[in-house]
Amino acid sequence: MSDSAGTVTGLVSALQSIARGRLLTDEPLAQHTTYGVGGPADLFYLPADPEDLMSALPVIREADVPILPLGGGTNTLMKDAGFRGVVICLTDGLTGMNVDADEGRAEAGVSTQVYSRRCQRAGRTGFEFGCGIPGTIGGAVRGNAGAWGGETFDHLLWLRGVDLATGLEMTFRKEEIAHRYRRVDLPGRYLLLEAAFELEEDDPDEILSRMDRMLDERKASQPLWMRNAGCAFKNPEGPAPAGLLIDRSGGKGMSVGNVSVSDVHANFLVTKGGITAADVLKLIEKVRDRVFQSEGVELETEVRIVGEYGVENV
Ligand SMILES: Cc1cc2nc3c(=O)[nH]c(=O)nc-3n(C[C@H](O)[C@H](O)[C@H](O)COP(=O)(O)OP(=O)(O)OC[C@H]3O[C@@H](n4cnc5c(N)ncnc54)[C@H](O)[C@@H]3O)c2cc1C
Repeated sequence: MSDSAGTVTGLVSALQSIARGRLLTDEPLAQHTTYGVGGPADLFYLPADPEDLMSALPVIREADVPILPLGGGTNTLMKDAGFRGVVICLTDGLTGMNVDADEGRAEAGVSTQVYSRRCQRAGRTGFEFGCGIPGTIGGAVRGNAGAWGGETFDHLLWLRGVDLATGLEMTFRKEEIAHRYRRVDLPGRYLLLEAAFELEEDDPDEILSRMDRMLDERKASQPLWMRNAGCAFKNPEGPAPAGLLIDRSGGKGMSVGNVSVSDVHANFLVTKGGITAADVLKLIEKVRDRVFQSEGVELETEVRIVGEYGVENV
């Protein structure tokens, strides 16, 4: 444990006396991201349940160290130096969900795919687009994740979370939140706790066959057998998606060390392992340069790049 080590060490002892969840020090972030890269986090906290989190948060805020919310790590590139603060990961303890007549709720640590299946089984349509999106509801709402024409905000009713700057719990209705493709304007340091979605009644078998079609298309068009973090770049304004621009500029097959641009889907950077975050970052830059030289388009990263003190590309 480095740096701010004094502060984080003090925080660990303070939390040990009140937190019931897991407290892991010097935790390798590579174990919590789908790229499988990333140095250690000074502290990695997995609250046992929402009450545990709410009692720990004032203590964490008091320590005044960087805080990083984390879901499944499926859209995150953690740098090799790790994170000098507290990662709060909600996948152990914020996993409550329900599907009522016309509203479904899910806590932020719920798997998006599991929630999608839950809606299908209950005969509620609106969330089937999530059946193939890895990660959590927290990550999906934060990045307005989407697929096959649907996105998380389409059916969102409201979301609830804590503004980490003030410690206040804040609920926003959908109309109060500016959002667009893969982007949501929430307070800069906001820990999402729960979201609610508008769902309509439909035949479970019909929903299932729509989901099966989406999953078949995904299997045919994405390199799901290799490690990746989904699309590396956002689709720019204009008719051509990022993958097509990369392909057209000859980017398929470009590589740095053991990470390469997928032959199957050029917007996926894939690896079988044995890489560092620096390799992925170098490849991102090489691809961006290639596309800019050849197509005149500056690609923006979709994957969140996290450095020692927080997310660097938002
Ligand atoms: C094989 C594969 C396919 C994919 N396909 C798609 C796709 O079709 N469409 C798509 O949109 N994405 C896709 N992705 C990317 C990714 O799965 C989604 O963006 C997903 O919603 C991220 O969720 P997560 O929990 O893993 O987020 P993480 O990677 O854990 O976090 C992403 C960002 O959200 C923040 N965050 C996470 N939880 C919270 C919270 N509770 N409160 C506040 N902030 C939070 C993090 O700080 C980080 O900045 C794919 C990824 C893979 C590996």
